[in-house]
Amino acid sequence: MNVVVIGGGLAAASAAAELREQGHTGDIVVVGGEPHPPYERPPLSKGLLLGSSQPQEASVHPPEWYDEHQVDLRTGTVATGLDLDRRRVRLESGELPYDRLLLATGATPRHLPMADASRAPVVHLRTLDDALALRERLTEGARIAIIGAGWIGLEVASAARQRGASVTVLESAPLPLQRVLGDEVATVFADLHREHGVDLRLGAQVVGIEDEHGEAVVHVEGSGPVVADLLLVAVGVSPTDELAARAGLAVDNGVLVDAWLRTPDPHVLAAGDVANHDHPTLGTHVRVEHWDTAIHHGRHAARVMLGSDEPYTRLPYFFTDQYDLGMEYVGHVAGGAGHDLVVRGDLAGRQASVLWLQEDRVVAGMHLNDWDAIGPLRAVVGRQVTDAVRDPAVPLADLV
Ligand SMILES: Cc1cc2nc3c(=O)[nH]c(=O)nc-3n(C[C@H](O)[C@H](O)[C@H](O)COP(=O)(O)OP(=O)(O)OC[C@H]3O[C@@H](n4cnc5c(N)ncnc54)[C@H](O)[C@@H]3O)c2cc1C
Repeated sequence: MNVVVIGGGLAAASAAAELREQGHTGDIVVVGGEPHPPYERPPLSKGLLLGSSQPQEASVHPPEWYDEHQVDLRTGTVATGLDLDRRRVRLESGELPYDRLLLATGATPRHLPMADASRAPVVHLRTLDDALALRERLTEGARIAIIGAGWIGLEVASAARQRGASVTVLESAPLPLQRVLGDEVATVFADLHREHGVDLRLGAQVVGIEDEHGEAVVHVEGSGPVVADLLLVAVGVSPTDELAARAGLAVDNGVLVDAWLRTPDPHVLAAGDVANHDHPTLGTHVRVEHWDTAIHHGRHAARVMLGSDEPYTRLPYFFTDQYDLGMEYVGHVAGGAGHDLVVRGDLAGRQASVLWLQEDRVVAGMHLNDWDAIGPLRAVVGRQVTDAVRDPAVPLADLV
């Protein structure tokens, strides 16, 4: 069996590793558009910006791994089309045949047309090269404006403050991360950034972006403009699913895949940020933009290619590090639905665990700076709500 993987990121590299670990001896070609071998992105907005980690530490596998495992890694190579009938991937330089194809094309930062139209110094953060260029700009006294108080925006704010830059974050919602975390927990993140000197402007509608002598001037409705040496636009990502759409695969907020990560074409699977997965235990489609999913999707897709009939049931998991706050989250809170919160510990003091309850189920759990909590959280999420779950006096470990 000849496997082609499109996308040289974490999901792609994880799939290639799993294929070899499971004894696959056929060809594996990984086609990646970036010039670098696959690397992990979480350090790009954390240690790499702070200078506490180096680019090579982010590599998924050492550079020699690909040759040692007979994985034909083609960096700097873009797949330009798919011919599903003939099972061929089109490249600028020719075609690649496949028996199984994995789409692991990830996601692409959303742009703001008004930022792109301006000549202001505007950047996005997705790639290693983006991060290395950004790091150069996070200097003592530099003025950094960030549009979007999501994970990336806040992590960059944290790194920039720690490097002595002054930081303004503009967020249109009333709280940062509100959609994911809800008001109570989102407030913790707002307080954290303000305590560290970030000018966090919530409910801020950006109405214009201009360049003035090489500075970015960001106009905000109802208040004065923000002037910055650099403007980071961090307003989320879109799945890189155009290749799949053009080939006629079903696409709706990513490549639609079933519980086994298979598209309706029996030869084509999708994994990682680009996959909109019919999650059997969550009972809904989810497209998860997290490190853990890229690894486990990639590995799972490889096993399915080799004949496994196990569906992918792992719950979404993610983490963030900002200043001295470490957080891990497991589970999924369906958008818009009402939920209850049970807090154990000291939320305002940032040493706590939180459970989200929806109807009779624990649907998500999170801890702040309580590293022993992730095991019990994983065990409890998905379970039925009991009196003990609802009682913050019952230690999390006792719920397992
Ligand atoms: C700055 C940053 C920080 C993050 N921090 C965290 C974190 O703390 N915790 C967490 O859980 N997650 C984090 N994430 C998210 C996590 O990194 C992603 O979920 C993960 O990278 C997804 O992996 P992927 O392989 O699906 O896609 P990607 O990493 O996006 O890789 C896809 C690759 O495919 C290539 N590609 C696309 N189209 C083509 C084509 N046609 N031909 C060839 N190649 C193509 C792209 O160039 C890209 O290199 C972070 C992401 C970023 C950007």
